[in-house]
Amino acid sequence: MAKSSSIAFVYPNSPRERKHGPSGYKDVQSFRPWLRDEFDFRCVYCLKRESWGTAKEGFDIEHFVSSMVAPDKRLSYSNLVYACHECNLRKGSTSVNDPFECCTANNIALLENGMLVGLSRNARLIIAVVALNSPNMIRWRLLWMQIVELAQTHDFELLNQLLAYPHNLPDLTALTPPRNEKPEGVNDSHYARKRNGDLPASYIV
Ligand SMILES: [Zn+2]
Repeated sequence: MAKSSSIAFVYPNSPRERKHGPSGYKDVQSFRPWLRDEFDFRCVYCLKRESWGTAKEGFDIEHFVSSMVAPDKRLSYSNLVYACHECNLRKGSTSVNDPFECCTANNIALLENGMLVGLSRNARLIIAVVALNSPNMIRWRLLWMQIVELAQTHDFELLNQLLAYPHNLPDLTALTPPRNEKPEGVNDSHYARKRNGDLPASYIV
C-alpha cells in the first residue's frame, strides 16, 4: 500500500523542541493555553484539530507517563501533551514514550487506506496503545482525508477553513505562571505571530 499524499494528517517534522516552559502551577488546567499553542491546536496522537469539532469539550491534557507511575510528574509541563478526549480515553493509564518526539513524520507514515505505520518501535507502541488503527479510527481518518481532498480540488475557501487556526488563539503574554524556563517562547506563539501579521490563514503541519 502506497503512502498517502493527503494534507489532512501530516505529522510534524522532527527533531522538535518545546517552545514553552511554564512551571509551578498547582493545577493541570492552568497549562491548557500553553499546550494548545505548543501542540498547534491538534491532538498529538491522531492530529484531530480543534476546528474539526467543539474544542472546549473535545480536548484533554494528557500525561504520557501516567500519574499513577510518576505522581511527581503530574504538574510537570514536559510530561503533558494536548490530546483529544477519545485518544486520552483509549490510552488510559498506560505510559508511553514522549509523543512530542515520537509522533512525527520520521516516525509515522500515513497510507492511502487510512492506516498509520509506525516507523520506529516507540511509534508502533503508541499506535497500538492509543489504538490509532482501530476500524473506527481508520474510517474517521479516511473520511477527513476525502473531505480535505474534495475541498482541495473544488473549494479553496473551504480548504482554508478546514485547515485554519482556531479563532481564540491564547495570548500567552497575558499569563503569569509562577515560573517559566522559556519566557522568550511567547514571542513565537501563534497569537504573537498573528499580531505581527506573520501567521498564515491555514496550516498543514
Ligand atoms: Zn486524538
